[in-house]
Amino acid sequence: NTFAEIDLGEALNQNIRRCKYVKPTPVQRHAIPISLGGRDLMACAQTGSGKTAAFCFPIISGIMRGQPVQRPPRGVRTVYPLALVLSPTRELSMQIHEEARKFSYQTGVRVVVAYGGAPINQQLRDLERGVDILVATPGRLVDLLERARVSLQMIRYLALDEADRMLDMGFEPQIRKIVEQMDMPPPGVRQTMLFSATFPKEIQRLASDFLSNYIFLAV
Ligand code: AMP
Repeated sequence: NTFAEIDLGEALNQNIRRCKYVKPTPVQRHAIPISLGGRDLMACAQTGSGKTAAFCFPIISGIMRGQPVQRPPRGVRTVYPLALVLSPTRELSMQIHEEARKFSYQTGVRVVVAYGGAPINQQLRDLERGVDILVATPGRLVDLLERARVSLQMIRYLALDEADRMLDMGFEPQIRKIVEQMDMPPPGVRQTMLFSATFPKEIQRLASDFLSNYIFLAV
């Protein structure tokens, strides 16, 4: 019933205490153990439910515990993040980035954000300094992929935040294009979390296309 009881790793648990989080919110209480257990997840979550931590904690914990990864030797300037968080807007991406940075403080896990509607150059410089978790809006990420500045071949964790809003904004083609690039060998290693406030047919279709053997969480 407290974060101290969930074994997320000492550095992350310390950051959680620093953020003054003591008790998990309902979505966190259920989603975090499911994700730590390695299962895909589709979760019902409204703004303010604490969903950011619900997907950030398992990602950060998983990267910290994971085998040290051999990323392909860098191409010209291509980077290989291990986790991708897709979010519909620049504002939401900035918020997720800010929180994820606090959670990953002194863990060695690097978080970078890339969103549209802002010059790409600073984002390219941030990426060049290395990235484990990339927080991005779909349009800007497609741009980065087309420029071969980001490769999704090493992605182990994918979180889709406010998936219904991304579809409402017309991002489905971009999202599909992005996820297609992850279906590279070795197969079966990607863990996916989909968060949405509503579950129309389009979201259910996305879930059946992108998630495998997933747990549906409605809190
Ligand atoms: P979110 O739904 O992720 O946007 O979170 C909403 C707000 O609640 C943010 O300001 C979080 O920092 C805060 N928050 C999330 N989880 C907790 C928690 N377990 N305890 C206290 N505050 C939290």
